[in-house]
Amino acid sequence: PLSLSDMVEARRICVCVRKRPLNSKEVTKNDIDVVSIPGNGTLLLHEPKQKVDLTKYLDNQVFHFDYSFDESSTNDLVYRFTAKPLVQTIFDGGVATCFAYGQTGSGKTHTMGGDFSGKSQNNAKGIYAMAAQDVFALLKQRRYSGLDLCPYVTFFEIYNSKVFDLLNKKAKLRVLEDEKQQVQVVGLQEMYVSCAEDVIKMIEMGSACRTSGQTSANANSSRSHAVLQVILRRRNQVHGKFSLVDLAGNERGIDVRSSDRQTLVETAEINRSLLALKECIRSLGMDSHHIPFRMSKLTQVLRDSFIGENSRTCMIAMVSPGMSSCDSTVNTLRYADRYC
Ligand code: ADP
Ligand code: MG
Repeated sequence: PLSLSDMVEARRICVCVRKRPLNSKEVTKNDIDVVSIPGNGTLLLHEPKQKVDLTKYLDNQVFHFDYSFDESSTNDLVYRFTAKPLVQTIFDGGVATCFAYGQTGSGKTHTMGGDFSGKSQNNAKGIYAMAAQDVFALLKQRRYSGLDLCPYVTFFEIYNSKVFDLLNKKAKLRVLEDEKQQVQVVGLQEMYVSCAEDVIKMIEMGSACRTSGQTSANANSSRSHAVLQVILRRRNQVHGKFSLVDLAGNERGIDVRSSDRQTLVETAEINRSLLALKECIRSLGMDSHHIPFRMSKLTQVLRDSFIGENSRTCMIAMVSPGMSSCDSTVNTLRYADRYC
């Protein structure tokens, strides 16, 4: 019989949901946990203000996914069923992409960049680092050692349709598309890496730049998409590419009257790019020939992820458990449930 991870491997798109625990702030405010994970692949949103009574729930309050991870799941477990099965893809010459989607505070950066359980974020304990470790483990295997594959890393963010290099703050980047529709980020640093520790150092550097640097969305990293790419090159040609994306927050309920212009522009831009992403992933699932990748900078830069025989994508939808987050949670669940 197929193992669970074999089953994921057979599919080009995998959509999962991860619930984080109630945090101390929510507990202090007497927020109520309205999300439960009754079985693998399902998520139940309880009727707010009602006690949990499974028989009462309407169909549309149950959501279905390839996998669902409850609040006791570790990054390690989530990784094993989401991004890990995609590592092989880039050795096979394909394009792999893993997205973390959800409102601000739902756990995207915790999952991708590493957990915050200690005093600071542990970048060795996130999907970025775990994927890098597995890439190096495979590179050491005899079947790949003769292929002359060289690993490189890029780390950048997209904010208001502009791309910023997180590994080189001073770089001025431009996105260009050639006549073959190949998209290139001109000026983006591609750093050679010789071990997983090298990658972790770059994650640390780039993450620090994301929250404290001079450029772009630094004041509020939740308004930008961050993309870490592990690129395998063979004789200078791209052999395979793994993009790991910490998306901008998809929060609901931004008050149009009391928000400043910049917030409104940002929000419109985020919504546009997340909608574009949904359309592009959907056309990947349907083997469609028309991929609307020009709908946003995010999808344009990630164009390779949506084309080709050998593209594999995984989306992890993050949800906060509290009733106070219900609007955003429903928004996230609807966005992700569509593909199932
Ligand atoms: P986002 O990137 O989606 O805005 P973060 O990853 O920054 O959210 O998470 C917000 C807070 O919640 C952080 O302090 C983080 O430590 C905590 N958190 C998120 N997910 C989990 C989890 N699965 N377990 C424990 N704490 C978590
Ligand atoms: Mg974040």
